[in-house]
Amino acid sequence: MKSYWQNYIDGKWVDGGAGRIDVTNPATGEFLAEHALADAADVDRAVQAARRVHQSGVLTAMRPIERGRMVQEMGRYLLENIDQIAKELTLEQGKPLWEAHIEVKGAALYFEYYGNQASTVEGKSIPLGAGYFDWTENEPFGVSAQIIPWNYPLEMTARSLSAGLVTGNACVIKTPEMTPISNAWMVKAAEHAGFPEGSVNLLCGLGHEAGAALSAHPDVNQIVFTGSVPTGIAIAKAAAGNVVPCVLELGGKSAAIVHEDADLDAFENDIRWGIYFNAGQVCSAMSRIIVHESRHEELLERAEKVAKSLTVLPGIEQPEGDGTMGAMVSEAQRDRAVGMVERAIGEGAQIVAGGHKLNRDGAFMEPTVLKVTPEMEIAQQEVFGPVLSVMPFQEDAQAIEIANSTEFGLVSGVFTRDLDRATQAARKLRSGQVFVNEWFAGGIETPFGGYGKSGYGREKGREALWNYVQTKNVAMRLKG
Ligand code: NAD
Repeated sequence: MKSYWQNYIDGKWVDGGAGRIDVTNPATGEFLAEHALADAADVDRAVQAARRVHQSGVLTAMRPIERGRMVQEMGRYLLENIDQIAKELTLEQGKPLWEAHIEVKGAALYFEYYGNQASTVEGKSIPLGAGYFDWTENEPFGVSAQIIPWNYPLEMTARSLSAGLVTGNACVIKTPEMTPISNAWMVKAAEHAGFPEGSVNLLCGLGHEAGAALSAHPDVNQIVFTGSVPTGIAIAKAAAGNVVPCVLELGGKSAAIVHEDADLDAFENDIRWGIYFNAGQVCSAMSRIIVHESRHEELLERAEKVAKSLTVLPGIEQPEGDGTMGAMVSEAQRDRAVGMVERAIGEGAQIVAGGHKLNRDGAFMEPTVLKVTPEMEIAQQEVFGPVLSVMPFQEDAQAIEIANSTEFGLVSGVFTRDLDRATQAARKLRSGQVFVNEWFAGGIETPFGGYGKSGYGREKGREALWNYVQTKNVAMRLKG
């Protein structure tokens, strides 16, 4: 691993005006590398570079299918370098190496998927009678600012960057302070694919400095933010100040409703992936289970079995296998999660499994299961760690009410053999996505985003493309 990583502005690797930041390996607590830190002047240079690209027309003049081919090429490049990228991601983020491979493949898939959509962003012709010819075109906003969280730094960047580029926007990416390193591959991929200098700019900087400067920059035309609710609110205010649109992909406290007729053998797999994948640091994690009282005890036993079946160890020692979990991103995040568990115990929650940090160096936490009641803090607020809260219900309506009782609304799930019941629940659950009988069902082809404080706008799927373009209507008076 290189000991110092730079930012990338207008086709050049550069130092940061705010100096450098230490990146830590969360599995050891040791220093990993330094990264350049951008200040507001760096942000301005990056935005101006992107603006020049946009104003030159080089991206918009291209036939969309050519942009699409370049975007697809970025994905292929990531796959060609997957071993190296995955290793760097694991070292900076803590996830198991096998999970890092999944993330790189997921990132590549965004470039493949949106690369394929380039020519489909079609306008329409609107009939106005014999005297007019009228049509719409979908034009890129211009400069797309993309602010990225630390939990899936590559996939979250790929999600916005692929859609932004394919629609002809020039992009400025603000990488997360804790995990900025592996995103250098996005720039290398864009260079390799032949994107003109200034089309993709990459800055690591502090949120309140570089992030705030980017979201308030008057020459940014559109913002995509993925991260926490308080930061999302700050960004929405900054966007409003410049009257530019933003997409907010924020946190969640997503619930699975498990009915008495659910297949609990299959559901064990949903527990494993739903809450322990990436050590629970997933916005759409299944952090709550609302289970019918007749299966409550059985479910707790099964959840305990799943939690205790996982081996927790440094990600770099986990090349394959899904029976393992890595470190959390930092000791601060781990301590926050452990602190929430301790407060839950104070409120009367019972530990069924885990609940503590591991007695070793690094940001490790035990896979945890808690028996809770719906009003507790642990059942209302996002932990963003490997902590599952389980609570019982008696009536269907009560289950929906509990599921809808948090301020979030990212995803939810219903587990039953009764399709009528599942459909009714899907209609009543207040969330952007509902999984029936499989947590994380769907894919990058399906629109994703929140209700309530989980945000607004959608990423993924064809729907997301419309966030990156604005409609122009052309109305032409015809003679005769
Ligand atoms: P965060 O809000 O602390 O930081 C996210 C990004 O915003 C970072 O790059 C940070 O530097 C930047 N930032 C911080 N303050 C800023 C400011 N004032 N102005 C502009 N930018 C600023 O979030 P995090 O802790 O990195 O990520 C975890 C959160 O992200 C969780 O709540 C999680 O649920 C959410 N998340 C949501 C999705 C989704 O798609 N809905 C996906 C991943 C993560």
